[in-house]
Amino acid sequence: MALVVQKYGGTSVGSTDRIRTVAQRVANTAAQGNQVVVVVSAMGKSTDTLVALAADITDNPSQREMDMLLSTGEQVSISLLTMALQALGQPARSMTGPQVGIVTEAHHTRARILSIKPDRLRQALDRGEVIVVAGFQGMSNPELEDSDAFEITTLGRGGSDTSAVALAAALGADHCEICTDVPGILTTDPRLVPDASQMEEVTCDEMLELASLGASVLHPRAVEIARNYGIPLVVRSSWTDQPGTWVRSRPAGPRSLEGMEIARPVDGVELDLNQAKVGLLQVPDRPGVAAILFGAIAEQQLPVDLIIQSINEGNSNDIAFTVKQADLELAQSTAGEIYQSLCDAAHSAPPAEGIVTDGAIAKVSISGAGMIGRPGVAAQMFQSLSDAGVNIQMISTSEVKVSCLVDADQSDRAIAALCKTFEIHSSSLAPLKPAGQIAPPPVRGVALDREQAQLAIRHVPDRPGMAARIFTLLAEAQVSVDMIIQSQRCRRVNGIDTRDIAFTVTQGDIGLAQTALADLVEQMGCAVLEITPTVAKVSVVGAGMVNASGVAARMFEALAAAQINIQMIATSEIKISCLVDETLGTEALKVIHKAFALEGTDLVEVPKGA
Ligand code: ADP
Ligand code: ASP
Ligand code: MG
Repeated sequence: MALVVQKYGGTSVGSTDRIRTVAQRVANTAAQGNQVVVVVSAMGKSTDTLVALAADITDNPSQREMDMLLSTGEQVSISLLTMALQALGQPARSMTGPQVGIVTEAHHTRARILSIKPDRLRQALDRGEVIVVAGFQGMSNPELEDSDAFEITTLGRGGSDTSAVALAAALGADHCEICTDVPGILTTDPRLVPDASQMEEVTCDEMLELASLGASVLHPRAVEIARNYGIPLVVRSSWTDQPGTWVRSRPAGPRSLEGMEIARPVDGVELDLNQAKVGLLQVPDRPGVAAILFGAIAEQQLPVDLIIQSINEGNSNDIAFTVKQADLELAQSTAGEIYQSLCDAAHSAPPAEGIVTDGAIAKVSISGAGMIGRPGVAAQMFQSLSDAGVNIQMISTSEVKVSCLVDADQSDRAIAALCKTFEIHSSSLAPLKPAGQIAPPPVRGVALDREQAQLAIRHVPDRPGMAARIFTLLAEAQVSVDMIIQSQRCRRVNGIDTRDIAFTVTQGDIGLAQTALADLVEQMGCAVLEITPTVAKVSVVGAGMVNASGVAARMFEALAAAQINIQMIATSEIKISCLVDETLGTEALKVIHKAFALEGTDLVEVPKGA
């Protein structure tokens, strides 16, 4: 007998007809001999309707009352679905989040789950009942002081997915099914690219790197819990028996259910000593340059690891990348030829120091699903390196990884400091081999994020501790930083060496970030804060790109062919992200999706009873 958690989203329970269809499906699952816990969302768009009602009353509703209001949506659907199950003769019982023991932080509208005490659930399951649980809600710890105790909380929009996976983890379920109105996870958002195709499987790490894609179909926090507790997770259609898309995780070691969503944001510290850096300074800032450079590198079959391009300076830009040390010479000469041809094309003489290389650098990285949406983690890394006297040469981040290039002879100190800060003894995660496929594809999916703003501080003094100060201030102001880039460019201003640090934040946080940084920027003397209020971030993600050369080149070529200029580039082992002009985001997504031949055949499904 298996224990299965099934979650049905708003569209799937959007009418009484659909609720009856879902009830039949749940009853069938139980009739096959499974114990079933069902998590449901509010009917159709009813959460939006409740939000609109509140907005009609006031511009500034209290967060507590919003939770009180929004949590009612799910109570409607649990009771109706339970009635439909009972009408089919299936014993069933509905329960709210607090009734099934979901304890959360006392933060209204975005609470994280602290623990689940599933005793009542288990008893009911043992009585042969199907339990129908209200998604998206929980209750603050009853043992807290007065007004913070017994509070109804919600987990943030889309949070029913997180409720479902958290319950699966607490119950030790065999698997968790996210049943929705598409047949699985698609290679990109089908509302933007209608010919997106379905992924057969995807790893949790890939899914987390696709966070902005993931957020639309699967709550990233649900993926984080699945990854941390090793829960088999599948996204599939509510209407068919098609297999859907499996989200694979490594087998997880034992992990306490206490502090479920808040414990240990970082679970790996990595060192790569086999890195050499090539930097091209002052290349023209126009479409096609990155494509030509990485096209030539790919032609030499050279695997590139990090690629970092920060903000432009006038009409030029710097691009740096790393390769294995043995490949440095070939990478340098290839880059040199491209550099010369770019200068020839512009009829300009190459600057004295056009290409810089360093054969003795190390990449130190921290990784962990819990760093998404937690402002302080990158800051903690930079602070820890600074306290150890390690200077950061370059920084590149992705959703679940922060990588810094440092001098090779400082790497021991860097690693020791990071292991201590994040309490890592050895890398606890085994490498993931996705089942069913010999090698994962270089590109699994493409995502677009249009909610970011780009900020840059130019001329930050190049000494340990500066990145730490910047990102600690932002963390203290609760600003969630997305991409962080510190590039190769080094300028001497007023007698001191300086570098530029660029990053992106959610558009709504621009004001907060500006206020948080104002004093520091002034103290730095020659530094300036520049803001681009809207940018588009387009990313390709695939666990197989580490073994494939030419992925970056193909992405950059697609953008170049569409005359789209790349404003910044940051990479991790499994992700390449480019910032482009906000108005060109959708076009960029489309051309990249096509360049990797990800389109499929017609996938549109019409649900029964629609
Ligand atoms: P539910 O109400 O079931 O939770 P959501 O609306 O939250 O459903 O998520 C499903 C929707 O996500 C789909 O209808 C689709 O339009 C959208 N979506 C965006 N990106 C993707 C993607 N990459 N794969 C599948 N669906 C996606
Ligand atoms: N009903 C909530 C929302 O619309 C939670 C969910 O559907 O997952 O965001
Ligand atoms: Mg959803």
